[in-house]
Amino acid sequence: MVTVNTIQELRSLELGSLVKTTFQKALQNGQLVFSPSKHEHYTDPQTGMECELIVVEGLRKRPINRPTQPGSDEMISSDKIEQVKAKNPFMKPEPELTLIDTLLHDYRLILNKFPNTEEHFLMVTKEFIQQDTLLQPLELELMLTILRKLNDSDKKFFAFFNSGPESGYSQFHKHIQFMKLPSGFHVYQNSLVENSDFYIPTETSESKKPLVNKNLTFKHFVLKLPKTFASEEEQQSTLALMYMYLFKRVLNVFKEYGVDSSKLSYNFLMMENWMMIIPRRNAFFDGIWQNSLGFMGLFTTKDETVKSKILQHGAGTILRECGFELDPTDDNHKYDEYGY
Ligand code: AMP
Repeated sequence: MVTVNTIQELRSLELGSLVKTTFQKALQNGQLVFSPSKHEHYTDPQTGMECELIVVEGLRKRPINRPTQPGSDEMISSDKIEQVKAKNPFMKPEPELTLIDTLLHDYRLILNKFPNTEEHFLMVTKEFIQQDTLLQPLELELMLTILRKLNDSDKKFFAFFNSGPESGYSQFHKHIQFMKLPSGFHVYQNSLVENSDFYIPTETSESKKPLVNKNLTFKHFVLKLPKTFASEEEQQSTLALMYMYLFKRVLNVFKEYGVDSSKLSYNFLMMENWMMIIPRRNAFFDGIWQNSLGFMGLFTTKDETVKSKILQHGAGTILRECGFELDPTDDNHKYDEYGY
């Protein structure tokens, strides 16, 4: 069993080959629900987003273990939380799927048993913590360290965190996911940050607001990450400050639209050079479920029926209906830096 006690140890671990070999072995031994499928690659005509459609075998078999169902007005009760805890798959992960059994004391890295693509893995808390809690500075640092460790010129991983009842999550035990981009896949967030410098965002300066791709249909906020940090402390505090700024934007959008804050939901995504947040209003549209992945242009589907629905509606409509519509006057909107 692998134990990693410090960020420095994590940096010196051969994480890429650990993920690869553990995935291959678990697949050979039948411990993963996965069969490689054809990926259909296209550019969405409405938004210009590069998209990929993937039929995922495991989607039909994935367990659902959340305290409320999206779209319902049910409140999360302590009884429901106890039920979710009792059948939680992350408390005792399968040893064959475990990559790092103890990561900085409180975390584990495990393979996703129902992966969307090869080498899809998760960082989970060792103890039960609710998914609807904020990301901690250390969790943000771990996300970025893992991404920077895994990525090279032809392998690009991204991380995502689905939080809140309408975010599209299926598990309520705190988890952050890591997935590889399809080879040569171009994401719009990279174009946004390419021509921008790093800055700490603030609502009081026009040039220090988050970046937005105006061709898209859903509200989203992107920030460029610095290449280096002066120290571990500076890394944690900078990432936490940036994440909290984005989280406040989500609070402000929910307030602006008069949506009950008990429904507060968002997708948070990170690559080695940016972080992004998408406020979420609905977990699904016309039976098409979305978590963070659609907002990367990656559409997973359990069968051909849902696949044709995705193509019929188009990425722009699905993502707009699952998020909050991006409108041309958004630029003039004044967000309250200190209120929500
Ligand atoms: P989400 O749907 O965003 O909450 O992500 C939860 C992920 O956990 C899904 O992608 C599932 O495939 C994955 N999962 C469910 N059960 C297990 C398990 N026993 N071991 C590892 N991963 C799991």
